[in-house]
Amino acid sequence: MSEASATAAPASPKVNLFDLDRAGLQRFFIGIGEKKYRAEQVMKWLYHQQVDRFDAMTDVGKALRTKLDACAELVLPKVMHEQQSADGTTKWVLALPGGNAIETVYIPETSRGTLCVSSQVGCSLNCSFCSTAKQGFNRNLSTSEIIGQVWIANQRLKALGRGERPITNVVMMGMGEPLLNFDNVVAAMDLMRDDFGFGLANKRVTLSTAGLVPMIDELSEKSDVSLAVSLHAPNDALRDQLVPLNKKYPIAELMAACNRYVAKRPRSSITFEYTLMKGVNDKPEYARALVKLLRRVPSKLNLIPFNPFPGTDYERSDPATIEAFKKIVMEAGLIATVRRTRGDDIDAACGQLVGQVLDRTRRSREHRARLEQGKVDAA
Ligand code: SAH
Repeated sequence: MSEASATAAPASPKVNLFDLDRAGLQRFFIGIGEKKYRAEQVMKWLYHQQVDRFDAMTDVGKALRTKLDACAELVLPKVMHEQQSADGTTKWVLALPGGNAIETVYIPETSRGTLCVSSQVGCSLNCSFCSTAKQGFNRNLSTSEIIGQVWIANQRLKALGRGERPITNVVMMGMGEPLLNFDNVVAAMDLMRDDFGFGLANKRVTLSTAGLVPMIDELSEKSDVSLAVSLHAPNDALRDQLVPLNKKYPIAELMAACNRYVAKRPRSSITFEYTLMKGVNDKPEYARALVKLLRRVPSKLNLIPFNPFPGTDYERSDPATIEAFKKIVMEAGLIATVRRTRGDDIDAACGQLVGQVLDRTRRSREHRARLEQGKVDAA
């Protein structure tokens, strides 16, 4: 080792300010000997003006900007592809350092615009009907990679002429299980709702989970967002097959956690997601069992017609079956909606987000082998 490299102090890595929520930014500024209010001042630049360079922050003095350049950085994912569906749905593939990529989808409706945000590169839960599961898992997203999806989508949508406030709602329903990336997801959701961030109302930010019971309780303590739960079956035997996490946290425990969540939020309810698969979970008897289950929790039911992907054996339920299922639930007095399939011409529908996952599990290899086998069998 040369004398120079042995004595040089190691450069401490720069802090990416997009990784910090307001409290984190306040701590950061105090830590570098600055006043706390700088956090709000910089947040306005980052999230209201959407600048990503310190030298564009014209009301921050030159000396502080130079200091920030030395110890901090502003790094966001990079747009690899932007695709627009015939129905206005827009999908971005965002590149992350090291070769992974994630997907983010914007779904415009008459009175709102919803952004579907990813929380992990791939997913570790392996739900049998989800294409993200087949990609395997690589890692959790950082806070900057999560809030960066909102930042980029908002900037691009404005550039595309989709209005001044195109995003009115955010759903953590993209790739990954958000409650397995708890701290980064909570910090990013704080930035979405902070007045100095994107300023969305609490109830317009929704976290969707496959049912991680202890983390639902944790979320109830640390955040105040809407909760959606991916149920997909009214009994444990079937749910064990569709959502393997159910073996660890069965339906009764999940429902109890949901009740604890709403008990802390007067007038709130849980949205239960139920993907309808032909001959699997769409029979009238399942609808009746679901009614019994959901009567015990203030709830809304969101029925999702299954979205197919290469290599899956599941099929979408027929429209008549979906309507019959909905009717049983509605006649029992529950609120049920059927999620309109959006963006499926650009593979942007629920369960179709795949990104580019440098898989650390065996799952993507097994899925590819099955696809190859399918081709051989078909030939
Ligand atoms: N891991 C979280 C976040 C993913 S949200 C969760 O499980 O809730 C994505 C939603 O789309 C979930 O309700 C999921 O179960 C559903 N989904 C997954 N694959 C699907 C498919 N192929 N067709 C329709 N919905 C699907």
